[in-house]
Amino acid sequence: MQDDTASSVEGGDETVVSPAHAEVVDASSDDADAWSGPHTEYNQYGLPTGHEYVRCRDCGVVVLAARQTNATHRTGCTYE
Ligand SMILES: [Zn+2]
Repeated sequence: MQDDTASSVEGGDETVVSPAHAEVVDASSDDADAWSGPHTEYNQYGLPTGHEYVRCRDCGVVVLAARQTNATHRTGCTYE
């Protein structure tokens, strides 16, 4: 009889909660998260060229830092 009460309570409810936490992380990053970097650009000798670049996290296109607002993304990129 007491066993009936116990079986009606399922312990799997917590797994439904966890996707909500992932959404909060996405919202806080917004469009700034489209670019990784800036990275220092190196020449063929492995020396810094004095330029910095950023890379789109989705399509991987590389542009000079501060030029990313005019960047042309590849077809199908989330940030196109
Ligand atoms: Zn892109």
